[in-house]
Amino acid sequence: MTEGFDAISEPVARRVTSGLSKIGMVLRSRAWKGAGPAGVTPTQAQALELLRGRPTSLGGLAARLGVSAATASNAVGTLVEKGLVVKEPGANKRSVTLRLTPAGETTADQASEWPGFLSGAVETLDSREQTAMLRSLIKLIRTLQQNGDIPPQRICVTCRFFQPYVHADSANPHHCDYLNEPFGDRHLRLDCAEQADASPEQQQLAWQRFTSAWTA
Ligand code: SF4
Repeated sequence: MTEGFDAISEPVARRVTSGLSKIGMVLRSRAWKGAGPAGVTPTQAQALELLRGRPTSLGGLAARLGVSAATASNAVGTLVEKGLVVKEPGANKRSVTLRLTPAGETTADQASEWPGFLSGAVETLDSREQTAMLRSLIKLIRTLQQNGDIPPQRICVTCRFFQPYVHADSANPHHCDYLNEPFGDRHLRLDCAEQADASPEQQQLAWQRFTSAWTA
């Protein structure tokens, strides 16, 4: 007998969206609090985080930040003025590569500490809950990416090296052709430097295999 609850409950999807929105608000507020003492804005902090260990071009950085080239250029200009980023000659004469300076590495460390409060909360979930949440997040991220709502992410499920459910071992059913190793859902990556996009057809086939085994 749940008619009372059925009558007063909003659809689950709406409450999940509301929950994500609340977390998003906290993240935005904490981003300012965390990035502020490091002397950078949240966008600059994100740029530092993306450049950490991965020098890249201005266009590449803009794409990964999901902002226009002009916005990325403004952020980078300020970071260069602060001595946190240097511009070096790129692969060809007209291109430049952005690289963190030692001071930039330090500031990136300081500015990236702000999600600590969130990781603490996530760690209260047990390993099964964490893995289920990771899979759900990957599904959301893939949908947002396909709809053009977020820039392309370097995730396993769109990678040409991803072979889902090709091993009998239920703990490690997937295979990464790049590393040539089996792996499990708990290893699914959200930002892999080796990721290379599969063709749309290959992505669709891999996604069908990945999700059909999930719902079976
Ligand atoms: S190369 Fe990286 S993104 Fe691609 S399947 Fe392997 S671990 Fe995942």
